[in-house]
Amino acid sequence: MANSKPVMSMYDAPMWESIGRHRLELQTCSRCARFRYPPAPICANCLSLDYRWHPIAGRGTILSWVIFHRQYFDDHVPPYNVVAVQIEEGPIILSNLVGPVPEGSWIGAEVEFCYGEHAGRMQHQVRLREHSSIAAESA
Ligand SMILES: [Zn+2]
Repeated sequence: MANSKPVMSMYDAPMWESIGRHRLELQTCSRCARFRYPPAPICANCLSLDYRWHPIAGRGTILSWVIFHRQYFDDHVPPYNVVAVQIEEGPIILSNLVGPVPEGSWIGAEVEFCYGEHAGRMQHQVRLREHSSIAAESA
């Protein structure tokens, strides 16, 4: 077994650098302005090759979640969660929910991005937003 490694192509490196600054930036298409994730050479909407990097607002909603009970990497000791978060800008990003967790289903919980060190590198995470209705129910 080994530690997990981030994908680090020429398209991913600027995103990881922004994560290191605690401000997640994603590609946006220079032609149609759609946010692009994961980083890619071409816009899936209009096929433009042009893009810029823009910070996201840092808010989203959990679409799905899972708790892993089996170990696949040395640096991910079970149990740990993975959440699929649809950010306000549209893309769906996989992350980890840290801090308090909702009781019952996590689907629909409103989250905000935060950052934490993992295996020697900065990584994005999400935590429940204060006013999330699901968070309020579990309080
Ligand atoms: Zn486009």
